[in-house]
Amino acid sequence: MDIEKHLLGGASTYHGGIDIGAVEGTKIYAVASGVVTKASWGGANGYCVMIDHQNGYVSTYAHVNPNFVVHVGDKVYQNQYIANVGPKYVETKSYTTYKDSTGKSTNGATTGPHLHLAISKEGKKIDPQSLYN
Ligand SMILES: [Zn+2]
Repeated sequence: MDIEKHLLGGASTYHGGIDIGAVEGTKIYAVASGVVTKASWGGANGYCVMIDHQNGYVSTYAHVNPNFVVHVGDKVYQNQYIANVGPKYVETKSYTTYKDSTGKSTNGATTGPHLHLAISKEGKKIDPQSLYN
């Protein structure tokens, strides 16, 4: 998936990040180089990956597949394959508290497979689209 292209095309309303529609299994690439600081369950983010770009910026990729392809401490480079878009539903664990109306555990606060991309600068969330405008 070409994230930049998706960002330049229409994206959903800003809500602490942007949602990029993609089918389950779509490859996700790092927006920039950095170090993986999280590759685990993240509450509303579901299974997620976080990359500290070591310049004040941190990117978060939410609702990914729980079979992680990168792990905490890994150094990654820009456009490196770091995750796959996850399923809507995940196996119920003690920490998976998000459910839909059918009672099945969902991959965080999600209504279906997509990538939620959030970027923060010095701890404050910024609109990822602003980086591309
Ligand atoms: Zn979202």
